[in-house]
Amino acid sequence: MANQDNKLVWNEEVCAGCGTCERSCPHEPRAIAVNEGRVVIDYDLCDACGVCVKECPVKALSFEVLA
Ligand code: SF4
Ligand code: SF4
Repeated sequence: MANQDNKLVWNEEVCAGCGTCERSCPHEPRAIAVNEGRVVIDYDLCDACGVCVKECPVKALSFEVLA
């Protein structure tokens, strides 16, 4: 992934399965997908741009800062 310092993390407990993260991902192809209520992140594609984190209505996505 392009940004090695931040890792996108999904909180399953909070997620509403709305699909906003998938629709908002500007990466082509999209780095995040919602499949039967589960969010799947492709870490090879995700560049940690933060759009999905901002757009998620229930704050189920966040960044883990890697050392
Ligand atoms: S936008 Fe948030 S609540 Fe909606 S599917 Fe994605 S992680 Fe879940
Ligand atoms: S951080 Fe950016 S590139 Fe990564 S899944 Fe979210 S919107 Fe897509």
